[in-house]
Amino acid sequence: MADPLRLMAVHAHPDDESSKGAAAIARYVSEGVDVMVVTCTGGERGDVLNPAAQAEVDERGLAAVRRDEMARAAKVLGVRHAWLGFEDSGFPEGDPRPPLPAGCFGDLPVADTIAPLVEQIRAFRPQVVTTYDENGGYPHPDHIRTHETTMAAVDAAADAAAFPELGEPWQVSKVYYNQTFSKARVLALHLAMVDADLDSPYHDWLDRWEDRPDDIDRITTKVPCAEWFDVRDRALLEHRTQIDPGSMWFQVPLEFQREVWPTEDFELARSVVPTSLPEDDLFAGLREGQS
Ligand SMILES: [Zn+2]
Repeated sequence: MADPLRLMAVHAHPDDESSKGAAAIARYVSEGVDVMVVTCTGGERGDVLNPAAQAEVDERGLAAVRRDEMARAAKVLGVRHAWLGFEDSGFPEGDPRPPLPAGCFGDLPVADTIAPLVEQIRAFRPQVVTTYDENGGYPHPDHIRTHETTMAAVDAAADAAAFPELGEPWQVSKVYYNQTFSKARVLALHLAMVDADLDSPYHDWLDRWEDRPDDIDRITTKVPCAEWFDVRDRALLEHRTQIDPGSMWFQVPLEFQREVWPTEDFELARSVVPTSLPEDDLFAGLREGQS
């Protein structure tokens, strides 16, 4: 019997799993892949972005509300879920930027953040791990630290000499970066809306977009998952404190998204198995009969 396929998606905050790669995950779950989402921080320094959720936050506190939101989103996606237990760094704003709160995830040295993830990797034994690129996808200190922690933990998990008390070594076969928010995709959706005489929600975003020369070429792997875009949206809406149902994320009709950009996109960062690029499957090279 072949080893069942397992995918671990490492994210910074509760809600990131539902906005980055969630439809691909829902597709893999539907195919019987065992998926675990790991969330590094509790998101306790986030803002309440949906006024309708403010009263509940005032009553119970943001951390408690977000824990429940995460549990509901995991249920919608059909995934297992684990917290690493670090404290949200918050998004430092101002010029100069204020220092990060002492002891938060972004403030701790990477050497102090990898052990709980090594333990999760060795226990779950994923062939594939997803995380963010070295820029964090967007420059939140927790996203950048999530990248650093994931890459170091994947190395340490395979190293029998590292953390011997945290389980048997496990070699992750492939590591991917989420690259869902490419300019090419946002622009394609924007143009489709404009073409149809609909109001594009992306005007301002595209105006403010700072081009990074290497971004266009980073996508290696486009996973078809249009059928699961509605599952992604339902999971996202469970994060009620973070997601206003009237926000721009829900203004492009699903049928447009399915036609214009039917994939979620990833960048293969590391592989210890042979594969050829471009790919359309995170498990390319790992399925039974492939070698
Ligand atoms: Zn985040």
